[in-house]
Order: sequence, then structure tokens, then C-alpha cells
Amino acid sequence: MSDAIRTLAPNLLAWFDRAGRKHLPWQRDTTPYRVWVSEIMLQQTQVATVIPYYERFMERFPEVRALAAAPIDEVLHLWTGLGYYARARNLHRAAQTIVKEFSGEFPSTLEAVQALPGIGRSTAGAILALSRAQRHPILDGNVKRVLTRYFGIEGFPGEQKVERELWRLADLCTPTERVGNYTQAIMDLGATLCVRSRPLCTMCPLQEHCVARIEHRQSSLPTPKPKKARPQRIAYAVIAMDEQGAVLLERRPPTGIWGGLWTFPQFDEPESAQSHAAGLGKLQERETSLGAYHHSFTHFDLTLHPILVRARPVSRDIADGDRHLWYDPKRPAKIGLAKPAVDLIAMLARAQPE
Ligand code: SF4
Repeated sequence: MSDAIRTLAPNLLAWFDRAGRKHLPWQRDTTPYRVWVSEIMLQQTQVATVIPYYERFMERFPEVRALAAAPIDEVLHLWTGLGYYARARNLHRAAQTIVKEFSGEFPSTLEAVQALPGIGRSTAGAILALSRAQRHPILDGNVKRVLTRYFGIEGFPGEQKVERELWRLADLCTPTERVGNYTQAIMDLGATLCVRSRPLCTMCPLQEHCVARIEHRQSSLPTPKPKKARPQRIAYAVIAMDEQGAVLLERRPPTGIWGGLWTFPQFDEPESAQSHAAGLGKLQERETSLGAYHHSFTHFDLTLHPILVRARPVSRDIADGDRHLWYDPKRPAKIGLAKPAVDLIAMLARAQPE
């Protein structure tokens, strides 16, 4: 066993004895029920915010039967302001399961606790370690941060392979003695010293063997979630312009991107765009050239290649005012223009020969 693994728990426990929080409401009378409620409340909420909610909750529902018998509206009412209400609904459902299937006794095996609504492996381990001194590793967000830094583990912790390795290390580091204090200590370290940005390494009891500190990699660990490559789409916009400088616009279908707005006729294939353009007039290549137009949507990037056409006078007939219209940028009609139409019209004005 490496020094890093061997010394982690003793160093952490010595720090806990010196500096750890020991007087939080859920650290008194550590029944599984009280610890469970605190763990659920603390999942997405800071300690200071949780305390008054926890105390009100315990006053109204001092034990699991009271919670199970309460109407859900009352539970949600006491939760108001804490957010993530699924937590409260799961707590209520789990309380009813405990009363029905376990005669009101909080289950004592990891498997049974984990099977309750809203309780994952780490929360189940923490409840049993803190309330029953059972040895189970935990791996919540804070602990993942501590372990990835301490052991210098690369890779996004949400990836199965990385998570498996973190569970393995969490297990190796979890002591058999004082497991409750250890569990509290490693969660507290992540919440108070080994924080997301600018961890307080000089005060940390783990600094001697911490890879991130030694190699100055605190800011790159844990590895952030990889960004997915954004899909790229290419399309072609036909810009037909008449002698007076008016351009032919088309109304988009009512639903979808730019629904109901006006823009240039757009095609996915260059051949379709070319043949549409040829029907309208003479392709204009030399007089004006426009570069490609780029637009980013939430889920993809669009590159639009404009195809310019000097429209034949007869093309005017195709404007019906409902799906097609001639738009004169010098005397703009009051219509809703899609973003590419606004930008391409501006690009066109800049590119026109004097
Ligand atoms: S030394 Fe710094 S990075 Fe390493 S565990 Fe401690 S606080 Fe986190």
C-alpha cells in the first residue's frame, strides 16, 4: 500500500479532531433517519442554508412514521425554498416504504438502503457509516474532487472507467476504525479546503502526498466534462436582386427555426440552389462576391454560402406577398426578418460596388 493511501485517513482524522465541524444539528443523536434527512438536504445545498430547514423538518417529523403519515403537500411546504423538490418527494416515498416494508426500522444493509427512492450508493454508504459505523466508501462530488486531486487521476470522473478507479481508491482509503468521523471529514475537506477553485492547499492535512499540489495541477483536476464536437451544417442561400436593389425573400414555415420569419430561400444541396437561382435570373459572380455567413445555434453551427443572382424582371411575378416578397433595404417593409437575412442584407450593402 502506498504512503499516499496509508496516510490519508490518519491525516484526515487528525485534522477532523483539530478543525472539523462537530456541532451541526444532524451530528447530535445520529439515528439513520436524522442522518438520512440531512444527507438528502445537503445534496445540493450548503450547510448554512440547510440548518434552519433541517430543524423545522425534525420538529414536525421527528421520526420516519411521522414523515410517512404526512400529506405530501405538507412535506413540500417545509421544503419550500430548498429547491430540487424531487428530493422531498423521494424522501416521503422512501419513508412510506420503510414503514411498510421494514416496520418503520431504517434498513441496515447497503443494498436495501440503496434501493430506497432518491438514495444512491454514496449516500447509502454515508448514512450507514455516520449512523451505524458501518465501513462503506463514499464518493460524492466533493470526495471525487479530493481524490482526483490527491491521486492525480486524469479523465472526467463521470466516465465509467474513471469512476470505477475512484471507487477503488475510496475503498482503499476508508478505515475500519472511526469510519463515521472519516466520512464526515472527507466530505468536509472537499466542502471547505479542497474547493473547486483555489483550494486552500497550505491548510490541507493531505498536502504532503497530494499529486495535484506537488505538480501544480489543482486547476486542471478534476478533468472537466469533455465538450461534444458541435455538428456543422452547410446550406446555400439564393439572393436574387433586381435592378433597384430589392431582394427576394421567402417566408419560413410557421414551425422550426425562424418559424414564420422572412429570409432568403435556403437549400441543403448546391445543385438545388443553383437550379433555383438559374430560374430567377443571371448568376452574378464578378460584380459582387459575398463570403460565407456563419451562425451558431444552441446545438449546431450553420455555414451559409450565398449565391447571388441578378434577377430578370419577370421574376417579380413570383412575389405573392404571402410566401415570397421583394424587399427593398432602402425602404424596408415592416416584416420579421430572420437573422441571416438581416446579416446577409448588411453584408450585401457593404459589398455592393459604388
Ligand atoms: S493539497 Fe490542495 S488539492 Fe490536494 S487535497 Fe489538499 S486542498 Fe485539495
